[in-house]
Amino acid sequence: MKSRSLVLLICLLSSCAYLPTLNKKNESCYFPIDKNYPGGLVNYYLKSNDSDLKNKLQMGNLKFMICRDDDLNANILAPIPLTYSKNKIEVTLNDELIDTLSIEDKFYRESRILIQNKDLVNPPSSMQERIEREYLQGLTAKNTLSSSDLKQTKMDIPVTGITSSEFGVRRFINGEPRNRHIGLDIAANEGEPIRAPLDGKVILIGNFFYKGNVVYLDHGNGLVSSYSHMSEETVVMNQSLIAGEVLGYVGSTGRVTGPHLHWEVYFLGVPINPEIFIN
Ligand SMILES: [Zn+2]
Repeated sequence: MKSRSLVLLICLLSSCAYLPTLNKKNESCYFPIDKNYPGGLVNYYLKSNDSDLKNKLQMGNLKFMICRDDDLNANILAPIPLTYSKNKIEVTLNDELIDTLSIEDKFYRESRILIQNKDLVNPPSSMQERIEREYLQGLTAKNTLSSSDLKQTKMDIPVTGITSSEFGVRRFINGEPRNRHIGLDIAANEGEPIRAPLDGKVILIGNFFYKGNVVYLDHGNGLVSSYSHMSEETVVMNQSLIAGEVLGYVGSTGRVTGPHLHWEVYFLGVPINPEIFIN
């Protein structure tokens, strides 16, 4: 216990440069289970009381975090990138293979959309600096690794509406292949309130070229979410929100074809399907 307290103190003082270990005595690790596919999350169970497990274990080349139910059991949580192309994850302990997890093949459909405004499809060079700056701001936000007592990760859907584009869709704009869709689109009326799906803290607010009015929330321990294309936000930087609090309204700012919420969820900086967290 002493060493864990020390680790936590170092973590707080050094803004947590390594992967944290959650200590949840007598509580479950409330993470989604068995979503072993690209865009999902491995929740692997291991009997181990080794306090240095995070330095001895490898989940292939995936990032991972350890959540402990108690001193004997460890839940290993590893987000699987959409681009993960292998059909297995080799789990090694002290460089010895202890398990092989199979990765499911998941079908992601194609989506082809037309956008008339050519500046939004291929932005003018005068916009490149802004786009680069916003990309870096988003990159920093989604990789936030703050220590917090994350009690659960079951989320309520942030807005009432209809799913208009799922996570992972292979997109083509005006016939040209684009980046995969790394969020969930929920079409709703302009002005519909967007609510925090889980307790969190506002870590980024912006008016971005692609994302329009956007807010990023840090839920702690590597879990981050973002809300794009809002008509306006109702929160300020560093504000703490409790689940259900309104953070903004559905709009059509940025690169959109109609009013909707584009909702992203990141774990350890990796975008994963928000639907796996929904209650
Ligand atoms: Zn979207």
